[in-house]
Amino acid sequence: MDWFSDSKNTLNKYLEDPDIRKIIIDNLGNNALAVIKYVTENNLMEFKEDEIAKTLQISNKEVREVLNKMYDEKIMMYRKESTNNSNWYNFYWNLSIEDLIDWIKNKTFGKIEDLRLRIEHEELYYCPHCSSRFDIKIYDFDQAVDLGFRCSECGSQLQSLDKESIIKYE
Ligand SMILES: [Zn+2]
Repeated sequence: MDWFSDSKNTLNKYLEDPDIRKIIIDNLGNNALAVIKYVTENNLMEFKEDEIAKTLQISNKEVREVLNKMYDEKIMMYRKESTNNSNWYNFYWNLSIEDLIDWIKNKTFGKIEDLRLRIEHEELYYCPHCSSRFDIKIYDFDQAVDLGFRCSECGSQLQSLDKESIIKYE
């Protein structure tokens, strides 16, 4: 198996996870999943905005929104080529599967891993009520003291974050 199909397998495994799908949609927009699937399933090295819009039956504007968000997150690159009409450019987009995988890791397992490292030398607290998978609502010791160990969002009693409690969120 070459590295390309290898990373595609990794990506497909991530995309099967409903919590990861939610993170993609929350951060990159409603059409992001469809765009990612279309590009990877068809092995497109390069594609044009109107091609995606036509296939997915969404507007060019909606496609551009997703592409721009992914560009801002450094997952999507483009090159532009001038056309016969000197005022117009054709944009050829390219999705980096490797960068997308890194981006997903940073938003999910990487975040949890960072917390695991932090609690080795720092006292952290969290709100069980406001925390969800990959997204633990964290307070450092000073913040927790200032708040009387109550969550600023919901007022629940804060709990000490330890290795056992982190496991629930990975
Ligand atoms: Zn809370």
